[in-house]
Amino acid sequence: MLLVGGGHAHVAVLADWARQGPPAGVRGVLLTPEPHLRYSGMVPGWLAGQHGEGDGLVDLAALAARAGAELILDRCAALDPDAQVVTTAQGREIGFGIASFDTGGEGQGERLLGADPRLIEVRPIRAFVERLAMLRASGCALAHVVVAGGGAGGVEIAFGLRNLAGADPRPHVTLVTGSAGLLPGFAQGVRRRVATTLARQGIAVIAENARFDGGALLAGGQSLEPADLVIAATGSAAPAWVRASGIATDAAGFIAVDAHHRSTSHPHILAAGDVAARIDRPLAHSGVHAVFAGPVIAANLRKALAGEAPQAAYHPRRHSLYLMNTGDGSAIASYGPFSAQGSWVLALKHRIDKAWIAKYAALAAGV
Ligand SMILES: Cc1cc2nc3c(=O)[nH]c(=O)nc-3n(C[C@H](O)[C@H](O)[C@H](O)COP(=O)(O)OP(=O)(O)OC[C@H]3O[C@@H](n4cnc5c(N)ncnc54)[C@H](O)[C@@H]3O)c2cc1C
Repeated sequence: MLLVGGGHAHVAVLADWARQGPPAGVRGVLLTPEPHLRYSGMVPGWLAGQHGEGDGLVDLAALAARAGAELILDRCAALDPDAQVVTTAQGREIGFGIASFDTGGEGQGERLLGADPRLIEVRPIRAFVERLAMLRASGCALAHVVVAGGGAGGVEIAFGLRNLAGADPRPHVTLVTGSAGLLPGFAQGVRRRVATTLARQGIAVIAENARFDGGALLAGGQSLEPADLVIAATGSAAPAWVRASGIATDAAGFIAVDAHHRSTSHPHILAAGDVAARIDRPLAHSGVHAVFAGPVIAANLRKALAGEAPQAAYHPRRHSLYLMNTGDGSAIASYGPFSAQGSWVLALKHRIDKAWIAKYAALAAGV
């Protein structure tokens, strides 16, 4: 049984194996490139100095050991769903009876904005944190930073950078939302609160598409130069190996799954998180859904091993709770049409985030 990607859903599978014991009579393997999963929800707080760089990590190596799974530190580079083989970036072939994919999506900043040495993708989030930490350690000046992407991730990164811990003076930040504007899909009240707070913090917002042209960053015919850094928080793209594999995908190339998170073309393959797309209903690519799909995958893997049809299904709630850190000791909550703001929202966010991390730390430590 092969778990590809140590993402937000697969940690729940490892937790299930750690608590109840791994499924009997099978060899469980976790294929993932890094021994830790970085929890994206705590990254804006890290920028603003509310968390250390070492906080917000799930120890995949320790968790896999507790779960009785073999850990292979490598990445999936190709999948043959019919032959039931995954080929890794290092050229290793791993056969499987049942596989589950939770590898996340890829950055698409370069495709949307064009190439430039100042461009940093926010995905994968681990590489983003490492690159930014390195830049800061090397003394790179951050007078003006542009964040491209008007979703919740881009908004939080903009707030985090505006309140960048240890930066004096603090960077000027421009948020280029794309022509869809600020927080598409969020309620009017949330958008109003976020827009007011961005303005109060002096973060410029441009509702245009950004693009590099002749070495300069432009948005709506306006130059955003000089810019020291351009951060792309422009959503998840599907990894190329998914479409190349021949497994059924949605139009954007993500693995097509049903309500049981089972591939619509290959029933011995499951998928969750940003690499998957629900075919029965629209579902945003967000960590919340990956987290809730985790126990569903865990239950259905056990059923699949027993040769039974999957029973568990993920029925998302009508609304999801989003808590956006504004970097200044406060946060904005969004739940469907409702919104709230204040230091208590940030305290709630910290409590939820730290409880999630602590749960996996305890499991990994065997307590
Ligand atoms: C700044 C920011 C803040 C965010 N905050 C929130 C939030 O507060 N709430 C929320 O719901 N969502 C949030 N999101 C969205 C959230 O990060 C993603 O939706 C979530 O990480 C998706 O989880 P996942 O399990 O699909 O993938 P990931 O969490 O990206 O995990 C993928 C795992 O697979 C591994 N992997 C990658 N490629 C391969 C490969 N080829 N082979 C094997 N393994 C591989 C990775 O190393 C990683 O361990 C935020 C996003 C950003 C950018």
